Amino acid sequence: MAEMNSRHVVVVGAGPAGIRAAETLVEHGCQVTLIHEGPAPGGQIYRQQPGGFRRSARTLYGDDADRAVNVHDAAARLIARVAHIPNCTVWNIVDKTLYLLKESGIATLSFDSLVLATGAMDRVLPLPGWTLPGVFSLGGAQIALKHQACAIGGRVAFVGIGPLLYLVAFQYLKAGAGVAGVFDTSGFGTKLAALPRMMSAARYAWRGVRYRRALRRADVPLFEGVRPLRIDGQGSVTALQCRLPNGSTHSVACDAVALGYGLQAESQLAQLAGAQVQFETGQRTWIVRHDGAGRLAPDVYGAGDGIAILGAEAAELTGERAAWSLLQDRGLKPPAARLRHIDRALDRLVRFRTGLDAAFPVPVRQLEEVPDETILCRCETVTVGDARRTIDRFQPRDVNRLKALCRTGMGRCQGRICGLATAELLSQRMGLPIESVGRLRGQSPVKPLPFTLAAKEAEPRIAEEAIRGLAREVAE
Ligand SMILES: Cc1cc2nc3c(=O)[nH]c(=O)nc-3n(C[C@H](O)[C@H](O)[C@H](O)COP(=O)(O)OP(=O)(O)OC[C@H]3O[C@@H](n4cnc5c(N)ncnc54)[C@H](O)[C@@H]3O)c2cc1C
Repeated sequence: MAEMNSRHVVVVGAGPAGIRAAETLVEHGCQVTLIHEGPAPGGQIYRQQPGGFRRSARTLYGDDADRAVNVHDAAARLIARVAHIPNCTVWNIVDKTLYLLKESGIATLSFDSLVLATGAMDRVLPLPGWTLPGVFSLGGAQIALKHQACAIGGRVAFVGIGPLLYLVAFQYLKAGAGVAGVFDTSGFGTKLAALPRMMSAARYAWRGVRYRRALRRADVPLFEGVRPLRIDGQGSVTALQCRLPNGSTHSVACDAVALGYGLQAESQLAQLAGAQVQFETGQRTWIVRHDGAGRLAPDVYGAGDGIAILGAEAAELTGERAAWSLLQDRGLKPPAARLRHIDRALDRLVRFRTGLDAAFPVPVRQLEEVPDETILCRCETVTVGDARRTIDRFQPRDVNRLKALCRTGMGRCQGRICGLATAELLSQRMGLPIESVGRLRGQSPVKPLPFTLAAKEAEPRIAEEAIRGLAREVAE
């Protein structure tokens, strides 16, 4: 126990995964620091509203209210027993040191062991008009509602795939916001065929059915098997145009669009900490390789959607699982029955995920039709045409090479927004398998960093590290 206490564990992330990991570690004598970007723990799904807002857990979290309260209670107990650093972004990891951006400025923190539970972010695919004011990622549209009780518009079109598409449209409807329609690129038949595979977690499949029914009852138009063509507007959104399965073009008036094609793991820190990534065929994205029990690299563990997109219930389980692995590596024997329970529950959720992936394939072929003038990388204003011309001229076979040649993914977001779409474009144009073109490498700073702050307040070695990161970027 003395050994446990004296060696410092940092948990990055206070969603369900990070909270359960920290809870298990603290219960077994570890000295834990819990870091996260938000003002309060909860992560994405159990995001807490600002102080002074009075919506009930049922209003905020719907079917997930009990779980949300449970996770929040666990976090409240935990905060008294850990060093808690909210409003703090980890932007780099070098050896066993984390580089932090805190409210008070730049700092470093060393660790003996690290648990990364950094969650996921939306995946978007470009289409004409997607950079207009009024176009949000689907998750962003939900954050506006959940956190600030705001709608992104008075008449919102929801476009994309996945359970979150129907959930957020349903939440908008329930909150009294105008829903112009749901435009699902997956056909009804595709979803129906995948249904048996989703029966391993039938209650989640049933929720989707309920959301659809509620939307239909409220006369919200639901379109399936559509191809979004463009978002119209000059300075603001006025309409969305789609091609329907019968080949006709449909235009719907709207003043905002929520766009989401599933989620992608926030795995950049894991890569900087020495973890490997692997391609996930069902979701056409990259996840973090681990040993099946959350071990990513020596003294580095991972959990939740930041490792593989399996949802909130799995995040709690993998959080606890990763903590047990860490404790085991420090000599504590984990309870075999509990591990068996966790592994069985995770198997069930992995099977459900496979069903979801079959129900909602990522419609990457729509990129073939996107006109050249469409923005691909909004940070660097690189168009789809710029990327296509670069590919035709230089024939790159790796997405990092394409980045070096035309600057797509080289801006402030480090390709977190455009990286997957750029890789799909390259794979299609070169006729290469998507996994062979790779992914944009995780680079420091993993999130935008006010450079003036870094330069002014940082210790020289931190500033040097930031500058080295930029130099690497330029060299590539
Ligand atoms: C915008 C959005 C909305 C979602 N809404 C729903 C929903 O309504 N229902 C549902 O079932 N699923 C939803 N999901 C999926 C859901 O978030 C996950 O299944 C679940 O929250 C995963 O838990 P987690 O602990 O792995 O990560 P999260 O809950 O995402 O928590 C990640 C934590 O890591 C922290 N973090 C990330 N990067 C850093 C960094 N560099 N430095 C410091 N801290 C960092 C964050 O602050 C956060 O505390 C949503 C996902 C997104 C992206």
